Amino acid sequence: MVMEFFADWHTHTSYSDGRATPEEMVAAAARRGLAEVAITDHGPRGMFIGVRDAETYLEIKKLAGKLGEKYGVRVLVGAEANVTGLDGGLDVPREITGELDILIAGLHPQVWCRPLRETLTWILPNQVGRYISRVRDSMRNANTTALVAAVHKNPLTFVSHPGLMMAVDLDEVARACAATGCAMEINTGHHYDRDGVVQAALRWGARLVVNSDAHFPETVGDLAAGAALLDKYSVPPELVLNAGKTASKAEVVPGDKQSRVFIPPARTRSNVRLI
Ligand SMILES: [Zn+2]
Ligand SMILES: [Zn+2]
Repeated sequence: MVMEFFADWHTHTSYSDGRATPEEMVAAAARRGLAEVAITDHGPRGMFIGVRDAETYLEIKKLAGKLGEKYGVRVLVGAEANVTGLDGGLDVPREITGELDILIAGLHPQVWCRPLRETLTWILPNQVGRYISRVRDSMRNANTTALVAAVHKNPLTFVSHPGLMMAVDLDEVARACAATGCAMEINTGHHYDRDGVVQAALRWGARLVVNSDAHFPETVGDLAAGAALLDKYSVPPELVLNAGKTASKAEVVPGDKQSRVFIPPARTRSNVRLI
């Protein structure tokens, strides 16, 4: 049976590089029949594509309640934070992520690092690696170190598109995710080794989540490619954070997350742990 999803937890709006307003994206989620949608704009240190500053997330948060009521969709606000250094640091501070519903970390080869010199020693070679496979492969260890550190260091809901544009060792990432309760994303908006992500998650017992990464209303909730992939590998719905037609069916609360939960449970109404 093809898996259904109650949520799309990865979308962008004109607050970062998306092409539509939060309202247009929420309206699109309602048209798709989703119970939940998350607005997760890019962190502020993304080159030319991030939010103006981290406080912008609080501005978006103020809109969420009203939009949710108007369209009958639960609207979550999160950040797709950039991993800004080999130490696994993010570009959204704890004071802000503590106010958000979802925290995503992703590797992107367009980011101003902290320390700044890593923009040259780490990010620039990854940019070159997009065109020269030998260079891309040579960065795999550094990228894996950074992403694994981010998983251990931050209370992430999931890592976005692991392996897209920046090569990583998916087994190492899956091991870190399994150990911390972080999920790995099957991102239907980009082509990368999504089969490899599913296989690594199954090997190590990491959870998965399927999202559109929509930058336009048209693709919000367009998760069919993810459903097909889960079907191909017979992934059980318990392993998928947003599986099911309604949030109440998603009984996926694990017992291994105490150290990573820093938002009181009352803030998360679905029984999937967010942050
Ligand atoms: Zn991304
Ligand atoms: Zn994204």
